Amino acid sequence: MDQDKEYVGFATLPNQVHRKSVKKGFDFTLMVAGESGLGKSTLVNSLFLTDLYKDRKLLNAEERITQTVEITKHTVDIEEKGVKLKLTIVDTPGFGDAVNNTECWKSVADYIDQQFEQYFRDESGLNRKNIQDNRVHCCLYFISPFGHGLRPLDVEFMKALHEKVNIVPVLAKADTLTPLEVKKKKIKIREEIEQYGIKIYQFPDCDSDEDEEFKQQDQELKDSIPFAVIGSNTVVEAKGKRVRGRLYPWGIVEVENPAHCDFVKLRNMLVRTHMQDLKDVTRETHYENYRAHCIQSMTRMVVKERNRNKLTRESGTDFPIPTAPGVSDSETEKLIREKDEEVRQPPHTQTQEQECVTQECVDQECVMHDECVQESVQEECVMQEESVQEAEHCAELC
Ligand code: GDP
Repeated sequence: MDQDKEYVGFATLPNQVHRKSVKKGFDFTLMVAGESGLGKSTLVNSLFLTDLYKDRKLLNAEERITQTVEITKHTVDIEEKGVKLKLTIVDTPGFGDAVNNTECWKSVADYIDQQFEQYFRDESGLNRKNIQDNRVHCCLYFISPFGHGLRPLDVEFMKALHEKVNIVPVLAKADTLTPLEVKKKKIKIREEIEQYGIKIYQFPDCDSDEDEEFKQQDQELKDSIPFAVIGSNTVVEAKGKRVRGRLYPWGIVEVENPAHCDFVKLRNMLVRTHMQDLKDVTRETHYENYRAHCIQSMTRMVVKERNRNKLTRESGTDFPIPTAPGVSDSETEKLIREKDEEVRQPPHTQTQEQECVTQECVDQECVMHDECVQESVQEECVMQEESVQEAEHCAELC
């Protein structure tokens, strides 16, 4: 029966999407954060096999005492088998370096918000076709291997940012720890993440119909958090092969050897398996949160502004209506007064309803919300106009 069906051709849709995406290229923004000297730049260079920090200037101890966290951005275009990736690395030098580190996560949080704001503006503008997406898709947070689990600053940073960005914690310089120490530290850090209510990036659950091997790999990935990483900018010779590694008097630490660290797991996760999910979560969760918050504040401003306008209008007409001298307060006059009073009355119950409508539409699409506000403002104007006309008409009749 199925073979009799004519072939329409929409089965080529995935190919069309693929071709279009390849032509357009991909972009990804990765942030690295954590105390300086933990190996952030070395790891980034090792991950993407580039030298992103050629002209980096390191500060001396004196300069670092009062240093504020500055944000630096490096962009590289990488191409692999014809697929282009525009990679942006956002670094946070100076994080945790100063003597007083109170709220030093603030400039990082502000940077993330600024990128959301820019995107929100671009998206609401006229030319939405070529929006430059600078939203931060992932933040690798480096945890020191020398402490006993998380430090207060780590907890503070992650809690301040976990609703803005996908945080992936990494245990830095894992070659300074024995395998048993790595295992214990990982368990402790995972417990503390749970205990302090830190919401790090959650790997999506794999489908139940996936094969066992895939499910096992997925579980291993989840159990590896925080990824124990080692970085190196040098290529050394190990067992006749040239590998990226660190040469010590007692041996060689290979960056890409799964027995030595989780570097390959982290790179596969970032580049091969979860890059798109990190982007999706950024768009669907973190950016949506920001956008909803923005629209809510805008709505509040519109309602406030409208109420203010109403007050001005009222005070503008708040003159006593002059009555003709010698004319008694007849029925006619009473009616005019009543009608006039009605015009001057703020449509109280209606305003409350309108506010409810406006509040309700906060969760809905921005366009719908705009229409809603416009509609309610128009409605109000029509009603006011009608009342004025009625009063005038009444006065004429009388
Ligand atoms: P950043 O300030 O966090 O960017 O740190 P850097 O990448 O500049 O590294 C600071 C120092 O740590 C340098 O001397 C690196 O060679 C060294 N380093 C980087 N990664 C590792 C690592 O995985 N293990 C060890 N033992 N040292 C590392």
